[in-house]
Amino acid sequence: MSRGRPRAFVTRLLPEPAPSLLGEVFELCGNLGDRPLTSREILEGVPGASAIVCTLADRIDAAVLSAAGAELRVVSNFAVGFDNIDVTAATKRGVLVATTPDVLTEATAELTWALILAAARRVVEGDALVRSGRFTGWSPSLLLGKELTGGVLGIVGMGRIGRAVARRAAGFGMRVLYTRRSGPLPAEAVPGGEQWGFAANLHALLASADVVSLHVPLGPETRHLISAPELAAMKWDAILVNAARGPVVDEAALAETLRQGHLFAAALDVYENEPVITPGLEGLTNVVLLPHVGSATVATRRKMAESAARNAIAAVRGLPGVNAVNLQVPCVPPCARVDQWRV
Ligand code: NAP
Repeated sequence: MSRGRPRAFVTRLLPEPAPSLLGEVFELCGNLGDRPLTSREILEGVPGASAIVCTLADRIDAAVLSAAGAELRVVSNFAVGFDNIDVTAATKRGVLVATTPDVLTEATAELTWALILAAARRVVEGDALVRSGRFTGWSPSLLLGKELTGGVLGIVGMGRIGRAVARRAAGFGMRVLYTRRSGPLPAEAVPGGEQWGFAANLHALLASADVVSLHVPLGPETRHLISAPELAAMKWDAILVNAARGPVVDEAALAETLRQGHLFAAALDVYENEPVITPGLEGLTNVVLLPHVGSATVATRRKMAESAARNAIAAVRGLPGVNAVNLQVPCVPPCARVDQWRV
């Protein structure tokens, strides 16, 4: 029945329509349960796979790519970030690395604003107070927060998500200041009527922003982009938000900075040693801690599932339309056996 089909090694149960779409084309193997595989299970499961469909929690390094062997055409990540994959090693082997951009942009921007508002208005502290039974009534000085209106939102990494966060700033009466690698955005990328300011460098942004929100990918250049000197450069009552990747922030330095009373608050969706929380953070009341749920809406996870499946299928069939981050992979010939199968 499924004999002769290319194999897709799926590291984790993904939402529909990923299983259905993949199942039409591939012989599916791997983990159809909701627990992360160990590195050993991945290494032992990938040999002979034409596609690896994985999540950001799976490390797909040179050893995994090598174990997969010559049939491997694509590593399709169920995420827009791809720091869990050795792209250089994949490119050398002619393997496409595909991601799910765009479909998660708005959900992640919404979650970023949830973090900003929760930190500014001490939402988690308030919730804990009420649940603990210690709420004794309205008070003029209870849980005073930080007003956002009139403030500056500093966005580090003005790509898809950074811009979606920026678009929402007008609704909260905030001005936007941003940095990105390639200089100011072209005028057509800035919505009409908006005046987003380009900061000459990161430290200039940090010195001016009331809220600093991180939206850079994780890579050698951005690991610990925010460390002790950058935290010290921030306003004493600023808020730091990280919905990018944990290692972009030196969390030990963040915990120490907050402990010393510098910064109003921090709000994190991602962690340096995920899922381990850096000691010192969990005991601080002015830190909001979410369990990496930036893209976690029903609609978005469904779209990500479809995108990850279609990327794997298109790559193995040698079709265009793969959201690949290493398009320098010259030409991926269609997998010999998959031509017999229609999507
Ligand atoms: P994107 O469109 O590629 O945007 C990345 C932005 O970062 C670009 O503006 C880029 O500059 C900028 N950048 C890269 N390196 C930089 C550096 N060293 N200094 C300053 N700016 C730099 O990516 P995206 O779709 O917005 O996603 C961003 C990241 O969010 C992903 O890589 C992922 O790790 C994270 N994410 C997290 C969640 C979550 O669940 N919390 C969900 C989705 C995504 P240029 O414009 O000049 O290239």
